Amino acid sequence: MLQRSLIAKIFLVSFLSVHVPLIALILHLLFGFETSPVPVFALILAATLIGTAICLFAIWRFIRPLHHLAVALKKYPEDKSVLKIQSSGNDEIAIVTDVTKSMLMQVEELTKKLKHQATTDFLTGLANRRWLTEQVPGLQSQAERANEPLSVILFDLDNFKHINDDYGHDVGDNVLMIVGEVVKDSLRPYDLAARIGGEEFCIVLPRTSGESALKIAERLRAAFQASYVEPLPHGRITCSFGVVQAGPGERLQQLLRRADTALYRAKDAGRNRVIGAFVEKNP
Ligand code: GH3
Ligand code: MG
Ligand code: MG
Repeated sequence: MLQRSLIAKIFLVSFLSVHVPLIALILHLLFGFETSPVPVFALILAATLIGTAICLFAIWRFIRPLHHLAVALKKYPEDKSVLKIQSSGNDEIAIVTDVTKSMLMQVEELTKKLKHQATTDFLTGLANRRWLTEQVPGLQSQAERANEPLSVILFDLDNFKHINDDYGHDVGDNVLMIVGEVVKDSLRPYDLAARIGGEEFCIVLPRTSGESALKIAERLRAAFQASYVEPLPHGRITCSFGVVQAGPGERLQQLLRRADTALYRAKDAGRNRVIGAFVEKNP
């Protein structure tokens, strides 16, 4: 009971501390010490001070974990140190600390999950259009500061509607998943790949010239054609690509528009090919 109740601990300490002068006086009289006013007054004064000090010290010890918790909670948005607090004992403060910690951990988990869901395409595991839109301006200014090129590959599955129509939506979904896997296996850690439409994808390649991006797109084109999803015929999965290198200060919208024009030229030219806004490469 005493261990588990902060109120009981404070009551007990306060009660005992208040009675220190009385206990001291009783002992003083019992042991037959001098009863003249000055020593008795000095004894009571000293016992009162000692009792007060004991009381304040004990209350400070009891309340200190609450103070630590309050300070850590205040700093929670910056350093999350509250998640590392170790509760001591099992009184109300320990319970509040443990419950707060566990609730904040749940909030952290949930936030992480929601952030992942909000920025990821659930089918392919690639980023979604929102994440791409949020990240590209930063990548572009970083590239401009470092005077490095940045290129974009836009690609779209060829005749994908026929795959859905002929083999069913599930097979279509499997094709999208394979495309996601191929893209993930092919890129560098700092490249950004997103599914930005039903069967349309965008890859942002920092530190990459248009020429290099064409080679990467060509490798992807070959990898998609070589991939296999049951029960499609081999070589059925193909994509058309548009490749551009970002111009100075070019906004994502403009960049995508240029890449889209190149992509549609690739479609018009017969699909399953890579076209750059500058150089053309056929399989
Ligand atoms: P093109 O070569 O000109 O791009 O032709 P396409 O058939 O690929 O293009 P179209 O725009 O006519 O059709 C795209 C299809 O993609 C239609 C839509 O049902 C399908 N699609 C979009 N999202 C999904 C998805 O999440 N799963 C599946 N299975 N199909 C999808
Ligand atoms: Mg298509
Ligand atoms: Mg499309």
